[in-house]
Amino acid sequence: MELHGVSSGPPSVSVVAPCYNEEEGLREFWGRVTAACQDTVDQDYEIILVDDGSKDGTWSIIKALSECDPRVVGVRLFRNHGHQLAATAGLSVARGDRVMLIDADLQDPPELLKPMMGTMDLGADVVYGKRTSREGETWFKLLTAATFYRFLTHLTTVPIPRDAGDFRLMNRRVVEALLAMPERQRFIRGMVSWIGGRQVALPYERNARFAGTTKYPLQKMVRFAVDAITSFSTVPLRLASWLGAGTAIIAFFLVIYTVWQWWQGATVTGWASVVTAIAIFSGAQLLVLGILGEYLGRLFQEIKGRPLFLVDTVLIGGVPYGLPAD
Ligand code: UDP
Ligand code: MG
Repeated sequence: MELHGVSSGPPSVSVVAPCYNEEEGLREFWGRVTAACQDTVDQDYEIILVDDGSKDGTWSIIKALSECDPRVVGVRLFRNHGHQLAATAGLSVARGDRVMLIDADLQDPPELLKPMMGTMDLGADVVYGKRTSREGETWFKLLTAATFYRFLTHLTTVPIPRDAGDFRLMNRRVVEALLAMPERQRFIRGMVSWIGGRQVALPYERNARFAGTTKYPLQKMVRFAVDAITSFSTVPLRLASWLGAGTAIIAFFLVIYTVWQWWQGATVTGWASVVTAIAIFSGAQLLVLGILGEYLGRLFQEIKGRPLFLVDTVLIGGVPYGLPAD
């Protein structure tokens, strides 16, 4: 069957890009992705642009692109669901034998499709981009990212690569495995590592954004980091046991000291030590309660089993999917 001149069989590669308020750079992105795809697989590709509830003109650009390029599939989510869920929505629509996940801001060069495909031809299941340098990022972002990934690798047994984002090429098997994972707190780079298979790094230099500003303010970054830790490690939960063991040892010596003081008849003084002990132990308890709360809250979110995202429209050839072309 032919749809707008495109065969309806699965293309050899789908490019999936989540877009949130990316109106300034989207056409340039489409142009570079198109060139990279044609250079690699001729016409046998599709580009899936997911509008993650943008507030600017992103959707009208996606619509215009899908009208003039039958290889563009536009997916509009009902509201902003966040980068990881928007990417998941795109992956669920992608039909390609292989899928490249890429940011729409041109920080990840689409031209890497060719070497990624080449590496996959040699037998890799996943080829992920490993950043050797990052242009145009603040020192704060670089420092927090570096610290976070080093910290995370110590907390989990899943070998999550350092300095890698979600920019990667995956084969169909890995994409299906990823989509079969129902969790809501998605940390895609970690989930792909968990899947396993042959995962190969491809070093690249990360560029500055083509246009616009980062859609990851500090608050979202913290949330992302906590999601990553809680979905890949239960070490923080064990903190309670460590703290408990530590305080028990301290308490043991404290009891000996207190009894000794009482024996000496000097038990009235000691306001400072009592207040200090209360402050330390109540602080430790609240910290542990907070950590428990983080996990409990996530358990609650997961157990509700709500859909991960809601799709408003899927556009193929400028026409909403399911409606006949006029
Ligand atoms: N993004 C998204 N939804 C969001 C935030 C970001 O789809 O709520 C997209 C964004 O358009 C971009 C990618 O996710 O294509 C990465 O976001 P960004 O470049 O802002 O993150 P950074 O590179 O600064 O970490
Ligand atoms: Mg970016």
